[in-house]
Formats: sequence, C-alpha cells, structure tokens
Amino acid sequence: MQERGTDRFPVHELVHAWQIHQTPMDLTFLAEAFVTKVCEATGGNPSSCGPAGASYDEFSIEAQAQVVEDWFAGNTPAGTDRTGQACDTSGPYVQYITGNIRTGSTGSTGSTGSTGSTGST
Ligand SMILES: [Zn+2]
Repeated sequence: MQERGTDRFPVHELVHAWQIHQTPMDLTFLAEAFVTKVCEATGGNPSSCGPAGASYDEFSIEAQAQVVEDWFAGNTPAGTDRTGQACDTSGPYVQYITGNIRTGSTGSTGSTGSTGSTGST
C-alpha cells in the first residue's frame, strides 16, 4: 500500500459501510440512496460536494463517500478547493476525516461559527 495513486483501495465503498454502520437502517437512508440514483439517472452528479465548509450531513451519501475517497487519493475534482495532496492533514477537507469519520459523527463537525474564510489565496 505504498502507492495510493496506483492501487484501487476501495475507500469509497468503505465509507458506505461506515454510513450503514452509523445510521439506523431506516427509510431515511434508503430514500436518500434512491434520490441519489434518480439524480444520476437525470444527469446530476450526486458525488459532487463543492468546496469544504458544509456540515458533513449536508452532503448526499454519495458526496460523503466521495469526500473521503478524494481526500485519501488526493483527487482534485472541479468545483472543490482540494489541495491535491493524498491524505492531506492541513487541507480543508480533513475536517470531515477528523470530525466525522474518525469520531463516528454523521453530523456537524462541531466547528460552530465559521471564522469568515472568504476563499482568498
Ligand atoms: Zn457510492
């Protein structure tokens, strides 16, 4: 597992397993999965998450999985503010790894009150 870019470690699927573990298997989860498929079928991109900052639970289940997969692999999808560094510990998306995935929290990362980052570089 030295070269993350070349192997196809199933991070995305592991996040779905994590979601199922964290979520009571009720109709809410199944309904969101259904909406995701409808979104795909109608040309929307359910994996699109946009810039970091939203609460993890505001992303669709596909976007949540994609957030982690892209963080792990260092992907830089359009519309995101990713750094391109695999497992970046200082980029904007690590908040979901430390605040949600590692703690088992499906909701807000707990950082109340944005400090007003306006996206200047
Ligand atoms: Zn998925």
